[in-house]
Amino acid sequence: MAAADLPLDADRLWTDIMALAEITESDRPYTRRSFSPLFLEGRAWLARRFEDAGLTARIDAAGNLIGQRKGNKPERGVIAVGSHSDTVPSGGRFDGIAGVAAGLEVARALSDANEQLDHALEVVDFLAEEPSEYGLSCVGSRGMSGMLTSQMLDMREPGGETLREALRRVGGNPDRVADARRADVKAFLELHIEQGVVLESQSLQVGIVTGIVGIRRVEITFDGAAAHAGTTPMPLRRDALVAAANTIVSVRQMAERLAAESAGYFVATVGVVNVEPNASNVVPARCRIVIDIRTTEPRLTERFMEAVSRESERHAAAAHVRRAPLVILSDGPPAICDPGLRATLGRSAEKLKLRAGDLASGAGHDTAFMARICPSAMVFVPCRNGKSHTPEEWADKHAIAEGAAVILDAVKSLDQSLPRNARENRVTA
Ligand SMILES: [Zn+2]
Repeated sequence: MAAADLPLDADRLWTDIMALAEITESDRPYTRRSFSPLFLEGRAWLARRFEDAGLTARIDAAGNLIGQRKGNKPERGVIAVGSHSDTVPSGGRFDGIAGVAAGLEVARALSDANEQLDHALEVVDFLAEEPSEYGLSCVGSRGMSGMLTSQMLDMREPGGETLREALRRVGGNPDRVADARRADVKAFLELHIEQGVVLESQSLQVGIVTGIVGIRRVEITFDGAAAHAGTTPMPLRRDALVAAANTIVSVRQMAERLAAESAGYFVATVGVVNVEPNASNVVPARCRIVIDIRTTEPRLTERFMEAVSRESERHAAAAHVRRAPLVILSDGPPAICDPGLRATLGRSAEKLKLRAGDLASGAGHDTAFMARICPSAMVFVPCRNGKSHTPEEWADKHAIAEGAAVILDAVKSLDQSLPRNARENRVTA
């Protein structure tokens, strides 16, 4: 569909994204870390843009910036659209920001067309989606879904400030964080760049996300014996690194097999290897590896864990080293995008004559938390060579506008089709 035919203003949307990108650490583009003065500057700019668009801007107790457009029937509740405006260090111009700007453009396009919705529409800039200096990611969406605990608020950044203090500094209220939990949001939609190459490689214009992976991190430690690399004959060695290296190869092979056998998404990576004493003339005494496992289907994780346990034990025995019990360092469940919302997004893409396809998200997103409190779904737009979390990150103006147009159309459909008097949200997670 040509730009002129889209039901929103692609240039206006693009101008916002570029303007926000200008608010960056000048010697380290594009950096706008959550809780930093630049982040607050970006938010002040966004809040003004919200107000310019006729939205009422506020910051909730969990530090989310929310712009609200009133609905004709307040009792029907809220349709929310959003993402995040913080970045990783030396990140890109689109990750997160594209989704906030798209939400704002949806609100403006509705007003331009004099479209009155029954539901209120809220544009949300979630606080600190990226891992923050406090050691926590998705701070705002955890808050909005009732998952931000007091223990989390006690986490500290290296300088000693607690997340509780930081939250107050950005306009949130840590004493009333429970107030941020929402029961009135009836549907949530997030536009995001794909951060991968699936859409580009299949020449798709929009991706409709089926689910967001759960992530489990598992530590395995092998204990052998340090020995002189010159004087210890091969059969007498107890080399911990050899057992770890063979385990890494097995992880790769088992992950490939599981991914091929199952319809679900499955990937596993060893990205951490610590060797002791890590000296060229010493047989390694100890080796620790960390496996990052991501899938939309927890049963695959369980099958994988059994296989890893078995194979690592086998490799340890062959290298005459001891393998410590597997330690689960962290574990988060996958989130399933709502089938009803996905179908709505699919129909909207079809109506706009856009080539759409289903895909899973291998990265975490605020939607994963929102899915706990209301039907939620995501639209991915292609980004060049799949690059993200780097200044080279790029998405085309038209691609972002097409994704936003799908969300706009879906919001209008949902305004009519969402259950009228459901007191409790229906969640299919
Ligand atoms: Zn993001």
